[in-house]
Amino acid sequence: MKRIGVLTSGGDCSGINATLKAIVEEAYKNNIRVTGFLEGYNGLVNDLAIELTPMQVSGILQRGGTILMTSRCEEFMQESGFNKALKTLKEEEIEGLIVIGGDGSLRGAKKLVEAGVLCVGIPESIDNDIYGTDMALGVDTALNIITNAIDIIRDTASSHKRAFVIETMGRESGYLALMSAMASGAEAVLIPEIDYDIDSIMQRLKLEHERGRKYSIIVIAEGVKKTQEVAEKLKVEAEFDTRLTILGHIQRGGNPSVFDRTLGMRMGIRAVQSIINKKSSVIGLQGNDLKNVPFDVVFSNKKVFNDMMLEFARLKSR
Ligand code: ADP
Repeated sequence: MKRIGVLTSGGDCSGINATLKAIVEEAYKNNIRVTGFLEGYNGLVNDLAIELTPMQVSGILQRGGTILMTSRCEEFMQESGFNKALKTLKEEEIEGLIVIGGDGSLRGAKKLVEAGVLCVGIPESIDNDIYGTDMALGVDTALNIITNAIDIIRDTASSHKRAFVIETMGRESGYLALMSAMASGAEAVLIPEIDYDIDSIMQRLKLEHERGRKYSIIVIAEGVKKTQEVAEKLKVEAEFDTRLTILGHIQRGGNPSVFDRTLGMRMGIRAVQSIINKKSSVIGLQGNDLKNVPFDVVFSNKKVFNDMMLEFARLKSR
């Protein structure tokens, strides 16, 4: 094998650059050259190829974002765009492709495999909603950022009967909200996966405040789409001095945590080895081991919370 390709697609997160560095270094160790395609699938469709050498990936390990840039590419989803992507892979003499991306990007990778391309996916998504991996790349850094932010918000809590409503990212997934609520000792959490009872939460918080609690923290996943409503209810009906914080894009940036750096590097090395071994698959972290999970398995299953997480969610959502 002489040359492999790599692209980063969809929503970005921290840890991608560490992964790219590991990919290039592992490839060079095996005398394989690496082409980077810029802007996700757009780089395949429009042949935006650059040479990635160990020199170019030096000093990027600790940086957030992705040096290859990312995008959402509608054209790749059309037949004509997809065929242009296949043509680029042929012309650039790419013998195997590594796709670093979220659910949508990995679906794109699955289509490439079905078209005969040797392709390995690295799951990257702060939503942690990809089946087959306990943790996707970027989740840990996002969780650390959120938990830090909640700690800071908590530090400012001084007045009595104050409610802090904090919205986390995660699209349809409540993983970030649930885990950060757990890690920061929030009094309530609302996630899309679990039925919640806002009135019952308010009654509980009121009771706790009557017993002496000074302030409450309520974490809401964006997928619930009720953040403003809950904040308003707490203010008007329960008469809490309510503060609303939508954390937004700070959750995607920042230097990657040690966990994401090492996860990305391990996944990157495994991806190159999988390409060499001609194993089209998604790299999944299961327990402490990396596995090659078939694309079909990833997309025919749904990731669910374990019993302990579900019990915590139920307890805190009413
Ligand atoms: P993420 O990878 O973070 O989930 P998106 O869902 O926006 O982000 O997907 C990123 C890109 O992957 C899309 O812009 C498109 O180019 C490609 N993609 C997404 N879904 C599919 C699909 N079902 N088939 C082929 N390509 C897809």
